[in-house]
Amino acid sequence: MIKSQPTANIHSFESLATLDGKGIRYGIFFVGCPFRCVYCHNPDTWSGEGQRYTVEELAKKVVRYKPYFGKDGGVTISGGEVLVQSAFVAAFEKRLKKDGIGVVLDTSGGVPLTEDVKAALRGAEAVILDLKFWDDENYKRYCGGSISPVLDTLNYCEEKRVPVWIRTVIVPGINDKEEYIDKYAEIVRGYKCVKRYQLLAFHTMGFSKYEKLGINNPLKGTPALERKRLDELQAYLDSKELIK
Ligand code: SF4
Repeated sequence: MIKSQPTANIHSFESLATLDGKGIRYGIFFVGCPFRCVYCHNPDTWSGEGQRYTVEELAKKVVRYKPYFGKDGGVTISGGEVLVQSAFVAAFEKRLKKDGIGVVLDTSGGVPLTEDVKAALRGAEAVILDLKFWDDENYKRYCGGSISPVLDTLNYCEEKRVPVWIRTVIVPGINDKEEYIDKYAEIVRGYKCVKRYQLLAFHTMGFSKYEKLGINNPLKGTPALERKRLDELQAYLDSKELIK
């Protein structure tokens, strides 16, 4: 049974972006996150009061962009962590389906699998799932959380055949070695729902937000990952032929 959540707490919007999903996308960023990743570039989405929208108000905002979406485009919802507001998300996906608009759900997998979370995952046309580290120890150390809900999320998508794109941010000095790529690959191997596995380069563009918010930036001084190194690690990952 989905509990009702009359309004969503929204951080911001990005109209007609080409990242995070196929085609032209309308991006919606939700407030709230259970993790505190050391490399987060959106600490401004962690908490607080953004703009409030009902399902209908938010749908109205999106539907006017429908002519631009074409065959492959649609909405990408992200955060923060969108599944913190899973009851709203499930209702929102259902509403957009009526207008033939698909939703790609971008999640850290950090929220336990409640019935609302399951409904939100099932309602998405695809799930972008961050696999931040390979075990609990590193999730605890670098994200302040656990790998368990992430694996539960992946297993649920496998069971319900929801297509998943895995993403991992590679940070110099933390997980930028082939031996760590081996560990990620071992987790992902065998999942039929995984359609893509993309590595992303750590960058420093979010550093100014930490200063503005007056919070400690644990990676201050860490350089961005070089493109060449990212390409090498992606090629190494691809050589493992995880995607069938
Ligand atoms: S899950 Fe995403 S939004 Fe939350 S702290 Fe980590 S990087 Fe930031």
